[in-house]
Amino acid sequence: MTKLYSFYSGIFADNALDFSKRSSYIREIMLERVYPQRIIVPMKQGLGAEAVPTVNVGEHVYIGQCIGIVPDGVIGAPVHSGISGSVKDIRKIVLPNGITTKVIEIVSDNKRTFHESIVPRHNLSINAKTVMGIIKNSGIIGMGGEGIPVIAKISRARKYNVKELLVNCLQSEPFATSDLYRINESPDYVVSGATAVAGAIGTEKIRFLLSDNRKAEKEVLEAAIERAKKEFKLSVDYEICLFKERYPQGYYRLVARALYQADLKENDILENTVGAVMFNCSTMASCWDTIKDGIPMFQRIVTIAGDNGVSHNVLAPIGTPISEIVKSEFGAYDSTNRILWGNALTGIRVKDFDNTPITKTTSALTIIRKVDFPTAPCLHCGLCNDACAMDISVDVAYKLIEKNMGELAINENVLSCISCGLCSYVCPSGINLASSISEFIADYKKQNNDRFATPDCDVGLNNINGEWGSFSLLEDYVEKTVEDVEDDDSIILPFEGGKRI
Ligand code: SF4
Ligand code: SF4
Repeated sequence: MTKLYSFYSGIFADNALDFSKRSSYIREIMLERVYPQRIIVPMKQGLGAEAVPTVNVGEHVYIGQCIGIVPDGVIGAPVHSGISGSVKDIRKIVLPNGITTKVIEIVSDNKRTFHESIVPRHNLSINAKTVMGIIKNSGIIGMGGEGIPVIAKISRARKYNVKELLVNCLQSEPFATSDLYRINESPDYVVSGATAVAGAIGTEKIRFLLSDNRKAEKEVLEAAIERAKKEFKLSVDYEICLFKERYPQGYYRLVARALYQADLKENDILENTVGAVMFNCSTMASCWDTIKDGIPMFQRIVTIAGDNGVSHNVLAPIGTPISEIVKSEFGAYDSTNRILWGNALTGIRVKDFDNTPITKTTSALTIIRKVDFPTAPCLHCGLCNDACAMDISVDVAYKLIEKNMGELAINENVLSCISCGLCSYVCPSGINLASSISEFIADYKKQNNDRFATPDCDVGLNNINGEWGSFSLLEDYVEKTVEDVEDDDSIILPFEGGKRI
């Protein structure tokens, strides 16, 4: 019998997941593309420093052209244009997660012309150093939420000599299917990207983490693994690990519990505790996009979901304003809807649709009807505590925070909160527990800057957790730059001597 991994607590949101299953993502033969008339591309979209614009107002740019760079030795990611057109404006905006960033606004010329640098790679002898160089220049950051530059994570994994690469395919939040679509659409890209990154890190074990009810995804991954075994020179041990469908399954501390029975503390990381590094499956596919096809990170798949029954995936340039996507999906939208920048339970409500773009980490836009549920006093039912996967006494913490006794809430383990939103979801009294706790943590961390934050990171409400909590370990990321990596002869990918082998 197949072993099923899991953690305790959390929920199986059956109604919501049924909704996702009814969506037609598997039957979508062609991914619908969004061709916006303008994009607003943030120079800072994840962990690290803001990129510096390399173009000026009035300049013409092309698809895939680098428009923002990060100086060498600084953690961050370069930025590329997803449309061709002219630069209209460079200004500052605040993203819904609280990040203040410069943006480059580009108006489309409707010609969709690619930059001359965008060419597939055929003639390439490639080793760990070249893989790292390509990924660094492509601007790929983690697409699962935290937005850590992939090159930084590779460097840290090399430093700790990790033994396993985990590919997170556990997209468990209700309505979300962008990762699942990517697996179905291009399983070879997921497996090949992971294999290339494993080669760059120097690990020979790759484990794909997948929910047990994702049978179609399991089949396509198994077939892709068999193809990769024949194609790649690396000797890699691949494994598909099935997890019980459960939300919030993909968070790294819960994965550590399920896979390694390890209880990671707030600032612990996988690399130096269980000897593993984890990447989102779409991130791995994007690595292969750039290694094989020469495509840097200027676009991504976004799930558009609504409680009116519409739910499918689109491919949109990074920086597309929400208004451009939502109009094409839903026709006119009005004040009877709320639009969330993100998924149903963790998304952040957006008010300015014209000036809020999707970023490299925006996996979904969720449209829900505007219903103001009445709230009632706490019933002491304990459902919030039962649901919380991080062992927080949620009701107690909430009351302490409301009474301005937040310091005492720290004793209730409140800093471990991952903003999963489950406590609010299950509360029969309609109390918005998650938002109150998230706001408290954001304030607390800002006041305790030395311990929790980095000078270059504005901490937003929904990005205060996960690996963002590991800022004190930033030096791990910069320890080894690509230049420090030995330029050995070991070919790790199936390209050699001018022809694909
Ligand atoms: S939002 Fe925080 S407190 Fe609420 S269930 Fe999730 S982890 Fe627990
Ligand atoms: S779920 Fe709501 S009503 Fe029940 S104990 Fe928690 S806060 Fe109180």
